[in-house]
Amino acid sequence: MNLILLGAPGAGKGTQAEVICDKLSIPAISTGNIIREALAKGTEMGVKAKSYIDAGQLVPDEVVIGIIKERLAKDDCQKGFILDGFPRTIPQAEALDAMGIVIDKVIDIEVPDEKIIKRMSGRRVCSKCGASYHLEYKKPAKDGVCNVCEGELIQRKDDHPDTVLDRLNVYHEQTEPLKDYYSKAGLLKVVEGQEEVADTTVLTLKALED
Ligand code: ADP
Ligand code: ZN
Repeated sequence: MNLILLGAPGAGKGTQAEVICDKLSIPAISTGNIIREALAKGTEMGVKAKSYIDAGQLVPDEVVIGIIKERLAKDDCQKGFILDGFPRTIPQAEALDAMGIVIDKVIDIEVPDEKIIKRMSGRRVCSKCGASYHLEYKKPAKDGVCNVCEGELIQRKDDHPDTVLDRLNVYHEQTEPLKDYYSKAGLLKVVEGQEEVADTTVLTLKALED
């Protein structure tokens, strides 16, 4: 099954992607994570992307399209995949179509802006392995320490409040039109994000079966 997870930044796409990944045994592919890894390694692409990310802007289409082409060509995507954070613009969606990739379902996780702002301020990531946490919804076992690797938990620069507002604007302007794009294609399933992650998960799994 080839899936896309759509939603505002901080709507919980990543968490739902992990759940589906476990359930269906297909890889979850996060362009945000791939870019941050490149950044940490100091590759040319990572360096280029940094200024956009820190400003809450999207990385240029040709860069992310290149990343996705490379990633989807790998063997582990043969049986299907979950795209988390791609496409984020109409040209990115058109590029997927042009690659001849058939999408089975697009799951759109809806969370109102006020809640997004609140959630993003509580988000923390491991500075070593990138695992994500939340001060309220997904607490680490030990404050400030990663459950997986004991790395230090930090706030991403682009999760700071000013940048969050910019990212939300970018989402409404550039990403939200994808709802219409995929709705017209008959692929869109809307999931209302719930207060509890587990409750959202139930709805996501149901959307997969519909
Ligand atoms: P979130 O977890 O908040 O949804 P991501 O981790 O997916 O955010 O992405 C972080 C940043 O990486 C984005 O704000 C953007 O700058 C860049 N990025 C990720 N995916 C894409 C994409 N498909 N197109 C353009 N930029 C992207
Ligand atoms: Zn870690």
